[in-house]
Amino acid sequence: MRSGKKIAVIGGGAAGMMAAATAANRGLEVYLIEKNRRLGQKVLITGKGRCNITNGTDIQGFVDNVPVNGRFLYSAFNAFSNWDTVAMLEDFGVPIKIERGNRIFPKSDRAKDVVYAMTERLKRSGAHIVQDEAKAVVSKDGCVSYVELQNNGKLYVDSIIVATGGLSYPKTGSTGDGYRFARENGHTIVKPEPALIPLEIYENWPKELQGLTLKNIKIKVLDNKEKSVYEDFGEMLFTHFGVSGPVILSASSYIKKPQENRYKLRIDLKPALSIETLDNRVQRDFGKYSRKIFSNALDDLLPRAMIPIIINLSQISPVKEVNQITREERLRIVHLLKALELSIKSFRPIKEAIVTAGGVSTDEIDPKTMESRLINGLYFAGELIDVNGYTGGFNLQIAFSTGYLAGSSC
Ligand SMILES: Cc1cc2nc3c(=O)[nH]c(=O)nc-3n(C[C@H](O)[C@H](O)[C@H](O)COP(=O)(O)OP(=O)(O)OC[C@H]3O[C@@H](n4cnc5c(N)ncnc54)[C@H](O)[C@@H]3O)c2cc1C
Repeated sequence: MRSGKKIAVIGGGAAGMMAAATAANRGLEVYLIEKNRRLGQKVLITGKGRCNITNGTDIQGFVDNVPVNGRFLYSAFNAFSNWDTVAMLEDFGVPIKIERGNRIFPKSDRAKDVVYAMTERLKRSGAHIVQDEAKAVVSKDGCVSYVELQNNGKLYVDSIIVATGGLSYPKTGSTGDGYRFARENGHTIVKPEPALIPLEIYENWPKELQGLTLKNIKIKVLDNKEKSVYEDFGEMLFTHFGVSGPVILSASSYIKKPQENRYKLRIDLKPALSIETLDNRVQRDFGKYSRKIFSNALDDLLPRAMIPIIINLSQISPVKEVNQITREERLRIVHLLKALELSIKSFRPIKEAIVTAGGVSTDEIDPKTMESRLINGLYFAGELIDVNGYTGGFNLQIAFSTGYLAGSSC
């Protein structure tokens, strides 16, 4: 039974799809405006196409994994929790599995199954999908009035939910339009910055290793006073500009103004071995290859592509016979394997960030409803708000929870 109240949701990503279906399920007349031909373009590329949907931690765990304004999300996480997300997907035939770090994925490892479930939920809710671009959000006398559309004129509504995402991966549609809509309605925008972002490095050698993934390594990020600001264990990747991959993206959340602060990245290539055990291992290998030259003695220890790099950094001649390598030289090699250092230059551009930090100030949004404190009937959901989580499924859950709260409050 329709109530006659009309709602526009701008943006058909995780937050907007959730908001639109939730509002339509309440009997409201809902128009979901999406400029792309297809919904959920960003969800499709999440988790390398596997979609880390959410996390198995508790509500406090979620708040703790949102480094900026986590407390703002208590009501949203309570209104629609990780287990609500799981139940919603299972209702639409998408069973889940839990992996390391409580990360929740679809059992199929296919992000498109998540998009399918969300699209089905939306269709069944009766929400109208309008393929068009919102050009302006117009309010009058402190209340929302209409959405100006590129091709369909003015859409007069009672409430507008803005869920246009941030500035990262703009090819998926998130080009920052919502910041302008919010600003034009009097809202403060905390400067959008890249978060969960690859790092540019001063040294040139990572370029020579581009494409190489290191698994089971440990990293440490040190500030300019050599204090450790982050440590992690897992997988990283070398690129043409420096470093990326899961542990690097997570580390970037703990790095502030890298251009000014001269952080160092220290990589332990053999975290399972103490210095002593590794030295014994190197001695064993050197015994085995004692008649060979140095450059032919590291095959058992390192990925092939890394061998010339480590040789170069060790400043030992690659043609030196292994049995001529001194103890001091050998310890230099052990040290490189345990503490390979890189100097962090900068973040990559925001378009390469997994999420955008900054956005619509949480001071001007009611956390219990996601409604603007400045304009009646104006709501915000998803990455556009000044909240962002670490890796582990927290960002999609932010989109689902805030989308749900906006859709059930409007
Ligand atoms: C490569 C990558 C991998 C990721 N992996 C994960 C992961 O595994 N787990 C996780 O939790 N998070 C992940 N994230 C982050 C997560 O995907 C986002 O935080 C989340 O999808 C944001 O949802 P949203 O709905 O707020 O915004 P978006 O998904 O960006 O949706 C915004 C939508 O609004 C539309 N739009 C914008 N402006 C207009 C306009 N003017 N008119 C009409 N439509 C408009 C856009 O086309 C878009 O469809 C990943 C992000 C990236 C880039």
